[in-house]
Amino acid sequence: MYAYAKEELAHLRERLAWTHQRIDPQFQTPNQVLGAKRVIGCVALEVTQRCNLDCSICYLSENSESTPDIPLETIFARIDALVESYGVGTNVQITGGDPTLRDHDELEQIVAYVVSKKLVPALFTNGIHASRELLRRLKAVGLNDVAFHVDLTEKRKGYSSEKQLHEVRQEYIERARGLGLYVIFNQTIFARNVDEVPDLIEFYKRNADVVSMASFQLQADTGRGLTRKRKQGITLDTVTDTINETMGTDLCWDNVQFGHPKCHRLGYAAIFGKGQKVVPLLPDLDEFVDMIHTFDDVVVDRARPKRAALQMVTEATKRGYLPRGLKYWGGRLAREWKPLLKARGEVRKLTVVVQNFQDAQQIDHERIDNCSFHVMTDDGGISMCVHNAYRDHYLEGGVGYPAEYQARRVADGFPALTPGMDDGCGSACAK
Ligand code: SF4
Repeated sequence: MYAYAKEELAHLRERLAWTHQRIDPQFQTPNQVLGAKRVIGCVALEVTQRCNLDCSICYLSENSESTPDIPLETIFARIDALVESYGVGTNVQITGGDPTLRDHDELEQIVAYVVSKKLVPALFTNGIHASRELLRRLKAVGLNDVAFHVDLTEKRKGYSSEKQLHEVRQEYIERARGLGLYVIFNQTIFARNVDEVPDLIEFYKRNADVVSMASFQLQADTGRGLTRKRKQGITLDTVTDTINETMGTDLCWDNVQFGHPKCHRLGYAAIFGKGQKVVPLLPDLDEFVDMIHTFDDVVVDRARPKRAALQMVTEATKRGYLPRGLKYWGGRLAREWKPLLKARGEVRKLTVVVQNFQDAQQIDHERIDNCSFHVMTDDGGISMCVHNAYRDHYLEGGVGYPAEYQARRVADGFPALTPGMDDGCGSACAK
């Protein structure tokens, strides 16, 4: 948990206001998190373009493997710009390619530098080189989250179903167990595994003692992967419906608005025991709205749930929320006393995200303007969907973002892109 200086909080508030003004008025609903509590959902920091897998659905470019790693100084300069743009407490995805292919001393320095700027680092990896030793080492310099990507698109030898891949997931869980990291699992949902979403949910329910977030990323037609168009019927609605059915309850996906509603949905579940009972954590919209506005600048230490709970109680006391908080949360707890007893008091929070990245050739600018997931470049933050669509040009020196996007981002207060970058047609229109 970071203690923020007065100036850092003032800067954060100014950045929140900046985000608020870029959010389209139609999406400035009371439950909109962007601009109220968060400047951005997260920012990707790509520390290498290389990867040790070649997934059938991959956002990287055909030229990624031959792209040299950017020097540490450039990464540090991007981190400096990142905190300037989005403020302290921003979630930073240290990603690639696979970041573990980078020299591990350098990786450690990157994590430490992110932490020194009071940002929250997450390691995004396929896990192949993310040994317990490496995770322990990175944790020691302040790594907060580890996000493992495991699914059938990766074509791991000997695995032909998601059910079989639970063996890999279980191994990763054991690697991370007890290290004090917030553990996330990502998977791309496509024709070959969409029927296994229930089984994946059951797995995360059983393992909610270690796994804190499961993210389901719907296939997008972008990057170098050979599998292109998403099968009809794989949508935010169908996947969230399947998750609700498996959870045995509605996770109230519409209660949290994070940027544009077509981009993703978030559900928060309280898992009792090994998943015998699931209760939605945020069933009341008014309560959620009250909370995001009361705790707008509080960043909890999500890797340590007990400490986070204590931090919330302290902040609730300071902000006068405690009496109504006790009434609401105490009441809800009392209603669940039977399953609570049955689970011997074991209740874990599992966040479920369904992410809907865009196809490279059908970029919707309304979604880009309200985007909650950026990637850091030498020209500041850029929407991940735009970056993926024009990645080839970016790797070749930054050319290719279309004029329309450049004009819109400048209007939103982002830095202008490097002069000469606009050739009016990126890789997306070349396809
Ligand atoms: S525009 Fe793309 S990257 Fe941004 S929030 Fe939407 S899906 Fe995510």
